[in-house]
Amino acid sequence: MVSVVIIGMQMCPFKMKGFGVDKTLLYKQCIGCGLKKSFNSFYKHKEMRSGCLNKCIVCVKSDVVECRKTNLEYVRAYDRKRGKLFLRKQRTSEVTKKYRKQYPKRYIANYLVANAVRSGKIKKSKVC
Ligand SMILES: [Zn+2]
Repeated sequence: MVSVVIIGMQMCPFKMKGFGVDKTLLYKQCIGCGLKKSFNSFYKHKEMRSGCLNKCIVCVKSDVVECRKTNLEYVRAYDRKRGKLFLRKQRTSEVTKKYRKQYPKRYIANYLVANAVRSGKIKKSKVC
């Protein structure tokens, strides 16, 4: 087996079929943090020349968190609106039914506790 380390390579290993190169040894430089990371550390993107985004997964996630913090009201309004879509409601209903079927004791326990809190028999603590 030939071990090859190519730094700053333009072609994503996911697109390189049959090259006989160990894909885990290929690296790409992140434009966010500047670190050289393996292609597994980048999200795939068909439109990009290299087949991957130029920012690593860690940088993309931190950008998303930062964007959410700075535009909190907009994001909340967007989430509320999106949650009212028919397909979203349908999916939520399916997931809920599946959960209740998979964990019937948890469902009954949650149901009983919620009713007891609502009726005032038990008091909800502020900290879980
Ligand atoms: Zn990065």
